Parts: sequence; structure tokens; C-alpha cells
Amino acid sequence: MSESVKENAPKMAKAQKLVGVKGMNDILPPDSSRWEWLESQVRALMARYAYRNVRLPIVEPTALFVRGLGEVTDIVEKEMYSFEDRLNGEQLTLRPEGTAGLVRSVVEHNLLYEGGKRLYYMGPMFRHERPQRGRYRQFHQIGAEVLGFGGAEVDAELILLANDLWKVLGLKDVRLELNSLGQPAERQAHRAALITHLEKHSDVLDEEAKRRLHSNPLRILDTKNPAMQSVVEAAPRLLDFLGEASLAHFNAVKAILDANGIAYSINPRLVRGMDYYNLTVFEFITTSLGSQGTICGGGRYDYLIEQVGGKPAPAVGWALGVERVLELIKEQGEALPDLAPDVYAIIPESTALPVAMQVLQSLRACGVSAQMHAGSGEGMGSMKSQFKKADASGARFALVFGAEELAQGLVAVKSLRDGAGAQRTETLGTVAHWAHSLQSAL
Ligand code: ATP
Ligand code: MG
Repeated sequence: MSESVKENAPKMAKAQKLVGVKGMNDILPPDSSRWEWLESQVRALMARYAYRNVRLPIVEPTALFVRGLGEVTDIVEKEMYSFEDRLNGEQLTLRPEGTAGLVRSVVEHNLLYEGGKRLYYMGPMFRHERPQRGRYRQFHQIGAEVLGFGGAEVDAELILLANDLWKVLGLKDVRLELNSLGQPAERQAHRAALITHLEKHSDVLDEEAKRRLHSNPLRILDTKNPAMQSVVEAAPRLLDFLGEASLAHFNAVKAILDANGIAYSINPRLVRGMDYYNLTVFEFITTSLGSQGTICGGGRYDYLIEQVGGKPAPAVGWALGVERVLELIKEQGEALPDLAPDVYAIIPESTALPVAMQVLQSLRACGVSAQMHAGSGEGMGSMKSQFKKADASGARFALVFGAEELAQGLVAVKSLRDGAGAQRTETLGTVAHWAHSLQSAL
């Protein structure tokens, strides 16, 4: 801190350093460049599939998730950040996922009035989980949802879209698992058989499974408890309880995937974490991220709109975990996009600032990325320290706004990377011309 700043500062006791909330991360440069790059790839791809963006509130009424996701789910039972509005006592929750809020919005604004919609969203979600690699309390999802169409072709389209996204992001080692949860009546028949099977093995069921045995036995198939895996594997398969229509839907999805060369495996135990799914469910999984290997999951939820009070309409969607996808990109050694500025402006004397900053504005207007050297408040610092900063910025060129050159309407351009040290002078009046030459040299 410079002397003058110190003198003017109010006298305060040294404040204790505050830290952020556990499991909620700051996303800072250079990582944030990867985030921006991923988001721009997603936007471009969504446009190619004619999906439109929605931006929804982070806080929703708690009842939306309890009703929508199901009372006996991990999220509603133990992962929600819920609180009471201190003014009107309303029960509110930080959204743990995006689908329920989107459906609430679609119903509230009668969006399906003119027919089906293809929508996508990106943003933070909140779940009170034990933080670990790939599992955070604030994390980010990108979701794609198609509402108002019941055909297998949109289930397949969503899978093709996700698969294309892995391609544009350069992801390898992502596999697709597929299942069908059938319709409620089929699940009801399977449920009875499942309870009988699980009761026979009640000695190996953990507390959670025992509690869910009669309220939500399907959920038990989703267990991560290794001790229960063999019981779960031997359980009656929901697939064997599907009627003709459900099987036809499933086969139609598979036929489109086959025709498009999308590999998948059928996982009869894939049930997903929320109660709202029916028919097709799927997950994209990688083995490269340890136990947090599911990067994207989704399925059909034909009864959710009705459950949230809307006119019955079918829907299907998926959500991907941004942190996990980025972790996978990093794991696979993708280089960071280069975001160094094109030029770094070195300003030996502060008297040059008005002209120098005018020139930089013209360069920026021509699309050149320009970083200006900023002083301490008491001068610009030595040439040596300014050149050090210029090097550290990664800029291709340093522009040196020396008093002598400026007096002649010139600026020195010094190469910092290829052929470092090479220097020439440019006329201030022909900025657009050298902006062009700088860019072609980049
Ligand atoms: P998991 O089985 O790993 O808990 P989930 O079934 O709860 O996942 P979904 O609700 O389907 O996850 O969310 C879709 C995606 O969001 C997941 O596949 C994952 O990539 C990501 N995700 C879910 N929870 C978290 C979290 N706590 N931290 C980071 N990413 C998450
Ligand atoms: Mg979970």
C-alpha cells in the first residue's frame, strides 16, 4: 500500500479473514476461461438443435420440489437448503435441480399453449451433500428439456444432442446407459415383486433401504452401498414388467440411436434420483472421474407438468454437471484457450496517459485486446518493471508510449514473443491499419 493511501485509511482493528461456505467454490481465472469456453460451445450447439434459452429464479417455493421430486428422495429428504421468508413466512428452497422450476415456469406462463417447446438452461444448483471431488454444495448444471412432445424421437434427439456436445468438447471415454421405467401401472406390478425380493434379504438392507422398503422401494436400486449390490443385482427387473406400448417406445429410441451409430448399454437398475421419471431414462458415465463418474442424466417425465398443476403434457430432458464435465476435459489434457491480450501498453511517464488511452480505445474498437499498464497511484513505475508485467501478461506486443515518440505522433511496437525484441514504430494516426497488421500477426 502506498504511503498516501495508508495515511488516509481510517484506523481499524485488523479484520479477521472470512472464508467462503464449505462446498461452494469460487471460479477464478484461468479456470473461468474454460467455463466461458464450455458455455459458448453449448450455446452454439443448442442453436443448431433449435433449443431456446431460459433463465429462472434460484429460489423456488419448497413445495415445488417436495411435490415434483418426491418426498422419499435423497434430495428432498436431506439435501435441500430450505428457509423461511422472514417477512411472510413462505417456505423457500435454493433450487437443487432445474427441471421442477422449469416446469413451474412453463405452467405458470402457459408456454405450451402454441405447441411443444425445446428449452435449455445453465446455472447454479444447491445440495447439502458431503463435499468431495465432483460433488459440491453449490454446483452448476446445464439442462435441456423438451416439453409437449410424447414421441421417442425427442428422447433420441436429446441423447444425440448430448452426444454431439461430448464431441465438440473433445470428451473421450463417455458411455451411455439406458433403461425404461415404464408407466406407473407397470411400476406398481414390479413394486410388489421388488418388495417381496427385498424383504427376503432384509438382513443385508441398510437403515435407509429399510425405511424406503414400503415408501419408495425402486429408490433402493439406486443405492451406492457396496454391501447391497448383490441383492440389488438379483432384484426383479422393471424391464420385464413393461407392456407393449412401453416396450415399443423403448425400441423406437434404440432404433434411432442404432441408426446414428450411438453405442449404449442397457442397465436395468438405472432408476435416477427423482420420482418424476417414466419410460426412457439414461446416464452418460465416464470411468475417468472415480466414483463421481456420472456427467449427465435424464429421462422422460410425462406426469410432472400435471403434478405441478398444469394441463397434462409429456416431457423429457437431461442435465449435465458442469464441474464434472470440466474436470474430465482437464483430466484428458485439453489445453486452456489462450486469453492473453494482443498488446500491453507501456507508459513511461504519466503525462502520456491521455494520448495513450485514446490510442488504446481506438485499438479496442478495432477488435484488438489491449491491456494497459496501471500505476501505483504515484507514477507508472520503472520501464523494467513495466516490461516484466508486459511479459507476464502473455501479450504478443508491447506498445511503448515514450514522450519523444509521442511528440512526433509515433509509438514504438516491440515484439514480446516470436522474435522477441524486434522493434518498429507506428504512426498514431493509422491505428486501424496497424490493428489489422497486429491481428494478422496473431
Ligand atoms: P449422483 O448420483 O452423482 O449424486 P444425481 O443422480 O444426484 O448424481 P442428478 O440429479 O441427475 O444427479 O444431476 C445431474 C448431474 O448433475 C449429475 O449427473 C452430476 O453430473 C451433476 N451433479 C449432481 N449432484 C452434484 C453435486 N453435488 N456436485 C457436482 N455435480 C453434481
Ligand atoms: Mg445425488
